[in-house]
Amino acid sequence: FAEDVAAKVVLITGASSGIGEVRSMHDKCIYIHTALRSNHVAYEYAKRGACLALVARRRHRLQQVAETARYLGSPDVLVIPADVTKVEDCQRFINETVNHFGTLDHLVNNAGIASISMLEEFTHVTNAAPVMETNFWGSVYTTHFAIPYLKRSRGKIIVNASAGAWLPAPRLAVYSASKAAVIIFFETLRVELGGCIAITIVTPGVTESELTKGKFLSKEGRMVLDQEMRDVQVSAVPVQPVQRCAKAIVDSACHGDRYLTVPSWMRVT
Ligand code: NDP
Repeated sequence: FAEDVAAKVVLITGASSGIGEVRSMHDKCIYIHTALRSNHVAYEYAKRGACLALVARRRHRLQQVAETARYLGSPDVLVIPADVTKVEDCQRFINETVNHFGTLDHLVNNAGIASISMLEEFTHVTNAAPVMETNFWGSVYTTHFAIPYLKRSRGKIIVNASAGAWLPAPRLAVYSASKAAVIIFFETLRVELGGCIAITIVTPGVTESELTKGKFLSKEGRMVLDQEMRDVQVSAVPVQPVQRCAKAIVDSACHGDRYLTVPSWMRVT
């Protein structure tokens, strides 16, 4: 049966992206253009009445997402600017969430970045390190601090990996390796935890987002796809509609599924 998440407490890392354009909030009408996945997971939980703790580095973007989430039906939204690569931040946002709401029911490990480069093309190979620090270590730190509370609530962990973990694609070696590490980490954690916390591993294909839209490296050091890679992907792979992806993720979490694999990536040859 599907869990009813109304009034449950859901913490989502990487929840700042994808406000798109909120053209109007008058007449109970919101137009959201260029919608992205990350905050759409938040919106999907909001529509189901969940309380939200939203974590990412950009405070103003989190505040925009929070405003929309409240409008969509979330009874309480907490915005916590934080960096998942910093252990002390992870401890702080888990504690702040539990202090505010009294519990934690779902942890969605979603924050992620990508380096898109052939290995020999890195000017400094150490530029690849933040990918592992964010995608792998960020999820490990966050989960470490969340486990005691999730055990108490018999809660759930949802982790956004990638279909890239299954399929070698050029320029994505570091990113894909970070996601493969995420998968085996959470598979092993599932065994360690002996079933007291359900874990859903999500491996989406290409989905329209900041991660797949931007230039190679933004001013803030966020690594995103370059035009060439984007062209290849867009022509070879149908980019997933973000709302459907977000709904599938939250449905899967509510059902306590072990895996959600969105297979469009498999069309890359
Ligand atoms: P976005 O770039 O739109 O979102 C990434 C989110 O992660 C942002 O909210 C960003 O916020 C946050 N983030 C990045 N670094 C940190 C950090 N150090 N600390 C806290 N938050 C951080 O990309 P997507 O929505 O596409 O990505 C979401 C997840 O989905 C990622 O894990 C990605 O790897 C995965 N994925 C994406 C696919 C795609 O095709 N788009 C395919 C398969 C998986 P901020 O910058 O404010 O910190």
